[in-house]
Amino acid sequence: MDSFFIPQRICWWRVLFLLSIFQDYLSNMLDCPPTCSCSPTEIYCNKSDNGISFPLFSLQDTGNNGNNSIEDLFKNITSIHIENWTGLQTLKEVDIELYTGLQRLTIMNGNLRVIQARAFSKNPHLRYINLSKNPLTTLSWQLFQNLQLSELRLEDVVFECGCDIRWIQLWQQRGEAGLHNQLLFCTNGAARIPLQTMNISLCDLPDISVTHSNLTVIEGDRVTVTCNGSGYPLPEVDWTVNDLHSINTHQSNVYWPKVHSINLTLVNVSRDDNFYMLTCIAENKVGMANASIQLTVYFPPTILKLDEPERRHETCIEFTVRGNPQPTLRWFYRDKLIPPSDYIRTDMDTYQDYLEGCLNFKNPTHHNNGNYTLEASNFLGVATKTVYGHFLNAPFSEDYDYNGTPTPTITVTHRPEEDTFGVSIAVGLAGFACVLLVVLFVLINKYGRRSKFGMKGPVAVISGEEDSASPLHHVNHGIITPCTLDAGPDAVVIGMTRIPVIENPQYFRHGHNCNKPATYVQHIKRRDIILKRELGEGAFGKVFLAECYNLSPTKDKMLVAVKTLKDPTLVFSQTLKDPTLAARKDFQREAELLTNLQHEHIVKFYGVCVDGDPLIMVFEYMKHGDLNKFLRAHGPDAMILVDGQPLQTNGELGLSQMLHIATQIAAGMMYLASQHFVHRDLATRNCLVGNGLLVKIGDFGMSRDIYSTDYYRVGGHTMLPIRWMPPESIMYRKFTTESDVWSFGVILWEIFTYGKQPWFQLANNEVIECITQGRVLERPRVCPKEVYDIMLGCWQREPQQRLNIKDIQKILYALGKATPVYLDILG
Ligand code: AMP
Repeated sequence: MDSFFIPQRICWWRVLFLLSIFQDYLSNMLDCPPTCSCSPTEIYCNKSDNGISFPLFSLQDTGNNGNNSIEDLFKNITSIHIENWTGLQTLKEVDIELYTGLQRLTIMNGNLRVIQARAFSKNPHLRYINLSKNPLTTLSWQLFQNLQLSELRLEDVVFECGCDIRWIQLWQQRGEAGLHNQLLFCTNGAARIPLQTMNISLCDLPDISVTHSNLTVIEGDRVTVTCNGSGYPLPEVDWTVNDLHSINTHQSNVYWPKVHSINLTLVNVSRDDNFYMLTCIAENKVGMANASIQLTVYFPPTILKLDEPERRHETCIEFTVRGNPQPTLRWFYRDKLIPPSDYIRTDMDTYQDYLEGCLNFKNPTHHNNGNYTLEASNFLGVATKTVYGHFLNAPFSEDYDYNGTPTPTITVTHRPEEDTFGVSIAVGLAGFACVLLVVLFVLINKYGRRSKFGMKGPVAVISGEEDSASPLHHVNHGIITPCTLDAGPDAVVIGMTRIPVIENPQYFRHGHNCNKPATYVQHIKRRDIILKRELGEGAFGKVFLAECYNLSPTKDKMLVAVKTLKDPTLVFSQTLKDPTLAARKDFQREAELLTNLQHEHIVKFYGVCVDGDPLIMVFEYMKHGDLNKFLRAHGPDAMILVDGQPLQTNGELGLSQMLHIATQIAAGMMYLASQHFVHRDLATRNCLVGNGLLVKIGDFGMSRDIYSTDYYRVGGHTMLPIRWMPPESIMYRKFTTESDVWSFGVILWEIFTYGKQPWFQLANNEVIECITQGRVLERPRVCPKEVYDIMLGCWQREPQQRLNIKDIQKILYALGKATPVYLDILG
């Protein structure tokens, strides 16, 4: 990904001008070290040093601290370059501890001989270190163990051959930190040999083993686990027990000739250590190995919360229960078991060993008032708690008896939406219909043209406004965004249609652009990610629910969704010579792109984990999964199956909920369009649903598998979502913001059919035939005319005549606000 989001023609003079302004400001407070030049983010010293050991700003006593603290000014420095300095012989922690935002450090062609053990401990963002041409004789890997180095340059540093630098040889072999691209040497007495050929015996990475992989204990138990580290040099071995709640004691350290063994005893094991990973680390000069034991702690249930129904909503008794194994819940009303029914049911979610949820009532009345007892049990015990449920609603014409089934006094049965629906007709109809008619009238008059192809199909009831910000190839705000593409050589022919084979240039962008802003992709350590369960599978790897530590500044750990890439060469850079390396670079670019996309209706991207395989991307966890599954689960055919038996429906989505979903996707698309980002694969399967019907666009190019029938395979790997594509994308591989709008029309259709596959009755080649001939999807049975008009506005054959996403969002929002109001479902 190269700079989609910054002006293309930022000139150097402009950058220099801005820097000089800031430099002036900075120089009011701090003095640039002598013989160096400084900008707000860089210190550059390439002249002789006057004997100074390390370039530090000196403070000017101006009495004016401005808005930035001194720490901030140091923190803003991301790059230090020191060349030809002879005074710097030992690099100490104190030298660079203030530069906490430092990303690049070069100390080259100097007199650096020693780097202190903790020298980089305050510079966690260091990515690039260049120590070339220094008389260093040795270097420890431990200096870098907490950094995510992308490059370590050591050219012309001639180390002494020996076990101390075996790690550099291993890193070279593994291709870590760019060391494999460097020709390094070491001296063996008088001889100078390439490091790659150094042969040292009894010098290798430690081996490690632990007594268990999983350990299940009952709360209060005492348990001992053992870790053995072996190898030459004999490693130091230790358990990491940070944040462990159980009382723990390190017991014996036993040193055998080849094994260093260490016991850990947990006394009075605590439930708060359920899921804890006991990790053991073995370290020697060559490197580190670790092994973990997952702790499972069984404990009896406790009811942490049982709340009276909230007066405002009056339909839910909220509870939180904790226990392991997961407790079974039962509810009692006046000492009688409440059987599951459509009228009273338990909805809950599990999070670790917590169960959180609601006893939900459908239209509760005064008949439901009374004591409700929750019983939670597992094999270790039973907990009960009682709460008074007071439902204040005046009785409807529908009453319920204690267990929630309608009593014989029922005279009318109807859905709650219909109550409000009817009442609102009188109030809302007149006002909203007037507004809508005026809007429609204006739009029809202005844009209601037929396709110039004169084909049956997209009649322009509401059609597209000439979008001032699109088509994107007309825009020249200096944004590098070719949103239409030329036909390439790879294509397949289906019937009369030539389908080009394509990749999204926004993911597969090569070359360097000097205007590119430095995107800081968060790197997450593998040990901070603890997988919980599988959420799904895409074509290129599995998606897991995981706990991620040290991600949020306020929470010690949080739930995330992690996407694993089992073979990155399948996704990225399939055609390059070194697919693995190129794939990693593409992975990095995609991560940069995702880092830059930030909006409330775009799924949050937290960062990547690249230390080892598989490559991982970390996203916010969206509790209800993908929108297509969600729609199907909330459609008329949905059943919850319990032990294979149908039990109850999930509750059909109502009109206002459907509009709410669509409005949010449109808002996400507005943002993508504003970033000149063409998605190319908008569909409900690529949207995610979170709490409270929050919907976000959630996939940017990697899902092709579980919904493989939604894609049409053309040439090798390429799969096209033809059922969501407009004619010009199918025929000329032209993808634009307007083609995304077409796909949005199909998303609307999916929403109003509760997740049906578009053109489900047709085979792929028939679909291509249909779309290219100008046929459009039929109006879904529950779709109001006004909404179908939006679909038709998205499916105009001429891209310029399609509605623009901003208008679509506005109309949907207005419809949603006015709902329930009379929307013409039957007309
Ligand atoms: P993908 O490969 O992105 O299509 O993901 C496969 C499946 O994993 C999706 O269909 C979702 O059900 C699930 N999934 C993906 N991302 C998330 C997420 N952020 N939160 C929850 N579930 C997800």
